[in-house]
Order: sequence, then structure tokens, then C-alpha cells
Amino acid sequence: MKKLISKGMRLSKIFIPTTKEAPADAVIPSHVLMMRAGMIRPLAAGIYSFLPFGYRMIKKVCEIIRREMDAIGGQEFHLPALNPKEIWEKTGRVEAFGDILFHVKNRDYVLAPTHEEIIAEIAANHVKSYRDLPQIWYQIQTKFRNEPRPRSGVIRGRQFLMKDSYSLDRDWEGLDKSYELHAEAYRKIFSACKLKFFEVGASSGAMGGTGSQEFMVESEAGEDTCVICDNCGYAANVEIAKANSTPYKRDDNSESLKEIHTPNVKTIDELAEFLKIPTTKCAKSRVYIHNDTPILVLMLGNDEVNEEKLRIALGAGKIRPAHPEELSEITGADAGSIGPIETNLQIIADIKLKGANNMVSGANKNDYHISGIDFDRDLSNIKYYDIHYVQEGDLCVNCKSPLRVVKAIELGHIFKLGTKYSEALGAKFLDEKGEEHPIVMGSYGIGVERIIACLIEQNHDEKGIIWPKEIAPFQVHLIGVNMKNDEIRSTCEKLYFEMNESDIEVLYDDREDVSAGYKFNDADLIGIPLQVIVGEKNLAKNKVEIKHRATGNKKLVEIGLLIRTLQDELFLP
Ligand code: ATP
Ligand code: MG
Repeated sequence: MKKLISKGMRLSKIFIPTTKEAPADAVIPSHVLMMRAGMIRPLAAGIYSFLPFGYRMIKKVCEIIRREMDAIGGQEFHLPALNPKEIWEKTGRVEAFGDILFHVKNRDYVLAPTHEEIIAEIAANHVKSYRDLPQIWYQIQTKFRNEPRPRSGVIRGRQFLMKDSYSLDRDWEGLDKSYELHAEAYRKIFSACKLKFFEVGASSGAMGGTGSQEFMVESEAGEDTCVICDNCGYAANVEIAKANSTPYKRDDNSESLKEIHTPNVKTIDELAEFLKIPTTKCAKSRVYIHNDTPILVLMLGNDEVNEEKLRIALGAGKIRPAHPEELSEITGADAGSIGPIETNLQIIADIKLKGANNMVSGANKNDYHISGIDFDRDLSNIKYYDIHYVQEGDLCVNCKSPLRVVKAIELGHIFKLGTKYSEALGAKFLDEKGEEHPIVMGSYGIGVERIIACLIEQNHDEKGIIWPKEIAPFQVHLIGVNMKNDEIRSTCEKLYFEMNESDIEVLYDDREDVSAGYKFNDADLIGIPLQVIVGEKNLAKNKVEIKHRATGNKKLVEIGLLIRTLQDELFLP
């Protein structure tokens, strides 16, 4: 790759205000370290200034993004962030975004949280014919979203940089191709950024598309929960993730139904405790309203209903949990005493309950339960679906290896939008026969700051950041241990010159007034992959020390061999 940023910098000149402590509101490692390493400073909640060291990383990430977007035929735009509200009204998104949208006072403008509308507006005015298609238009630009609780530093900002691109195609086959090109470009971008990422198919929610995929990074700092299989790579958002469910182990003998008085027993735990049985002998009942019709949902033991899976299982329509005050009218009992025996409701049971016997559930009579329920024998109006949440250790649907449930951060998202925006804004084209059709659109986003924060989440230790060699603000950190020593200074100056000449990106700690210990701590904090330490003792032997930030390994190198050694370490030609 041709390097755009190759100039070395002197620490005495570049503004990197490192600190020992981070402010109290910084709790996740990337936030703490971006503050301590002098990359960012907060201006207001969710709004950050990027200082020179941090902005250098932004430029590096953008360089990779531009390279891969250009490679799939993307053309770079720069769209206005200040948008007439009218355009956003045409697509109904002033309402859809609600409080997230920033409005500009005393003008009918909004600050753009994304740019589908503006792209569709340009297409409506300037794309006329099938000959103008396909197009891939992208930009790297500031987005504004009034996120309710901005935290986690730049991972969730109110102002942030997004690479957003939009594909314009004449039909769905064209969109499929543009979508695949983006998926492949995204894999290259995140790989070049040395991120360990995984992909999940997502339901496209409010964006109104019919196919979408998210690129995720596993991190304790994440706000999404995903299920991943380390063996075969299966990954999904926990809202829709599936597991291989083991069939219920029936008891040999089925008891008969028996009503039991269970005063004040409400929860599954209380029931199991009261009857001295395992929770897996209890079936939990929940009442939902599906298109105005109540249904009874049964779960094994303490399993929670996964409402997204329930919604998918039931197909079309609206679904909500019944309100507490509706329960006794529907079932004859309050929450805690509801069950599947003698009910007229359609029963939807989780797949884990298929074939279960000798189960206990509510009697539809307050303070009573029924034991001896045999799902095969006693329940006829029942359908089984996988509607539970996958749990840590459940087996993978594909390969039956144990699954992990992890927190994750969304790095990027690709959507098949279809014609929602082109229809709302009149973006149409004429085909060969002169017939008019709406343009078929896709939309694709990547959070630039999130890439940097995730890199730090994945690469740090108690001392600071550990940038990978392939993507770091600088490649080499040259440290003159004592700059008042003439020999050290002249050697450092010579090495700094040679590194610049050899296109090695070097940060040179030429500060005179700080101690060696302070310099070493700063170097470990800001995390440049290779440190070159020039000290008196080694210099006497005509040697300098190379320290690897990641491992702490050190080795002595002849000064004359230093440049070649660094080039080899950095895989430079
Ligand atoms: P999230 O669910 O995390 O809020 P989103 O679904 O709202 O993300 P998109 O609208 O798809 O995100 O935006 C595309 C990308 O922009 C996201 O994948 C993410 O990397 C980035 N992004 C979104 N919101 C923010 C934010 N508030 N701060 C920083 N980056 C963001
Ligand atoms: Mg969001």
C-alpha cells in the first residue's frame, strides 16, 4: 500500500498529553486508554475531540476503508450534515428516529444521523436511465445521533464518523451483487485492521430492509449479546440464535394428574422448593396476546420466553405479553397459578418440553398447581417451537460443539434496503423499453471510531495499548534515554534521520527534561509496536536495544544493522 502518512514526529513537538489516571466516567479499557494516551478529550457527553495522536489512527483507518471501497468501484462523496427537515419528512424518518434526531433551532433543519435520504434525493434528480446504473456511492463523514446514554467513550458518541455507502441497482439481482461486494470489502477492511470479528445475520428492524448482516467484535464493553461457535463459526444475535436441543428425557412411568394446594407459591423457584423437585420438572406459563387473541406460552423451568423467536414462530401480526390485570379474566387465575390443563387457549410450548411427563404447572386457580402433567397424553391444542434463549454450553445447531454467549460491539452493518427510499423520494429510472421503475437500494455502514476503540479493546495490557504492527499510529518508538548525553543525542538524531529516509514511521522521544522511567512508561502506554532504546551502556558497545511492546522481549542490535532489522520486523521491503 502506498503510504500517505510516513512522516516521523518528535515527542517534544507533537501534542500527546498522556496522563497517569483516567476520569471516573471512563470504565472500559478503550475509553480509559484513549484518554490516558492523549488520543481524545471529551467536550460534552458523547462528544469528543480527537487530538493529533488519535487523529492519526482515524486517518490510517480511513485510508484502509477508502482503499477497499475504491476497489469495489465505490465513488467518494461528501454530503452535507445539515439537512432540510422536509426531506426527512418525506420518508417518515423524523418520526422514526424520534429523540435520536438532532433538530436545529430556529430553522427547519436536522443534523443527519445517516444519509439514505440525501443519496435518494441526488439519484431522483440525476439518475435517469438503466445506463446510469449500477452505482456505489460512499463517504466518510460525521453523523449526529442524540444517543440517550452515551457511554463507553467513542464507541457510542453523539457525533461520530461513519463510512456510509449506498448501492443503486436496477433490480434485486443487482442489489445482491452490490451487497456481496460490500460484505467482501468489509471482511478485507476489518482483517486489514487486524480485528478479530465475526458476522451475524440480523433482522433488519427499523431500517425496513429484507436482508442484513452485522459485523461484530467480541467485547465485555459490548451492548449486544451474541451466540458463537468457536468450532464451525456459527454466530447469531441471541434474539434469534438457535441451538441443537436435546430431547426431553421422559420418566418411565407417567403419574396421573393431581391438584395440589400451594399457598403463596408464585415463582418456579418457590414451586420447586415447596414440592422438593428440580425446576426442570416445572413448566412456566406466560400469557401473550397475538392479534387480540390470548395464547398460553409454556417454558421449561426458569427459561425466559425469547419474544423475537416467538414472533418469528407465529408469523405475521402483533404480539405482546398480557397485562397482569387481564390474566384472571383470560385464565381464571393470576400470574403464578396459570397452566395448560383445562384451558381453551392455544398452547405454544418451547421445544425443550416436547415429550415431557410428570410436570407441574399452574391449575388456573389461585394458590393451586397440578402435578403429573404428561405433555403427550394431556395436551392436545399445543404446538412446539424453539422459543428459548440459547445458553452458554448449549450445543451448536451445525456441529454440536458447545456454544458461547458473548457480549459484542457492532462494527458494521450491511442492509438490503430495496425501494423504500427511492419510492419516497421519487428516485426512478427508465429501462430499455422506456418503462419507469424505482431504483433498488442498499445501505452499508462502518463506525470509524469504533474500529479504533475495538482494536484497543482487543490489544492492551495493564500498562497500556498494544498496537498491532500492521496498523499503528507509528511503527517505531525511538527513545533517547538521556538526551543531555551528546553521544546519545547524536546517535538518536542519526537513527531518526535514517528511519525517515527508510519510510519507517517513527515517533522520537527527544525530550530532555523527563526521566528514562517516565519515557518508558509513556512508551508502554501509547503502545507503538517496536521500541528502540538508545542508552549509554549499550552505545559503548555500538549497540541499541529493540523492545517488542506486545511481548516485552528485548534484544540488542548492532547500530549498523538496526534499519534492516526493523524493516524485517515490520515486513517492509
Ligand atoms: P448500534 O446498534 O450500536 O446503535 P446502529 O444499528 O444504530 O448501531 P447503524 O445505524 O447501522 O448502527 O450505523 C452503522 C455503524 O455506525 C454501526 O455499525 C456502528 O459501527 C456505527 N455507529 C452507530 N452508532 C454509533 C454511535 N453512536 N457512535 C459511534 N459509532 C456508531
Ligand atoms: Mg444506534
